[in-house]
Amino acid sequence: MQGHGQTGQQENQEPARGQIQDQARAPDECGRRARWAAAGRQVYARAALAAGAAGKALAGAAELLLPSACALCGAVQRQVVCAPCAADLLRPVRRCPACALAQGRHFHCPACAASPPAYDQAHTLGDYASPQDQLVLALKFGHALPLAGWLAARLAAGLQGAWARQPAPDLLAPIPLSPQRLAARGFNQAWEIARPLARHLGLRADPVLLQRQRDTGSQRALDLAARQVNLRGAFRLARAARLDGMHVALVDDVMTSGATLHEAAGVLKAHGAARVSVIVALRTP
Ligand SMILES: [Zn+2]
Ligand SMILES: [Zn+2]
Repeated sequence: MQGHGQTGQQENQEPARGQIQDQARAPDECGRRARWAAAGRQVYARAALAAGAAGKALAGAAELLLPSACALCGAVQRQVVCAPCAADLLRPVRRCPACALAQGRHFHCPACAASPPAYDQAHTLGDYASPQDQLVLALKFGHALPLAGWLAARLAAGLQGAWARQPAPDLLAPIPLSPQRLAARGFNQAWEIARPLARHLGLRADPVLLQRQRDTGSQRALDLAARQVNLRGAFRLARAARLDGMHVALVDDVMTSGATLHEAAGVLKAHGAARVSVIVALRTP
């Protein structure tokens, strides 16, 4: 059972090369996935070469014209993720309405019932587990940026239904990386998801609303209490801003324990936000 308080595990610790494909998988599955990944890299490389010279317009056209390897099974078709793999990922699961923990029922999980997080609700596409964890791992560590657009489109499709029944956010804000990590990676995967998500939903997004004041390091070895201490004061608003009465949605690639999102939501509420939603591509089960 996860509590609140995040993690940072994914953003703070780059896996060793090979670990991305090999985590907790049987050897035959690893071999199959390595072959799929190799096929996918070849297809993406050809598409990138074809599109790179002529800029974004041609990139869009190339997406329509060139075949693509499904990021999960390697099937060559025209989508980033093939229809059968997408159907597996998007199969409805009853989750805690506050923290999106899969629990087979739509009631608050024991952790949220005992101690509600600073955010009010969380949405996710699915669990951060094999095989769909590859979507986030390939985005973050393999720089497979088309995956961010695919994840954003799927999130938008689910959220449009949810927000037909309740107020949509006024503003989307990605969980920021530390300046050091942003410089090392070259992009913030949370913003790569938030930007197309805002476009799909017709909402405003601010990539610099929150700043990470310091690198909080790997939290993998920390328990929840230690994570919360480690994250205290990690975020601040990037400029003097009041969020009075606003509904702000925090966007991230993965939610593990929820500590990072809890800390960031607390900062938004301290600056007047009335409601904070969390939107994550995947959620650790
Ligand atoms: Zn597939
Ligand atoms: Zn919960």
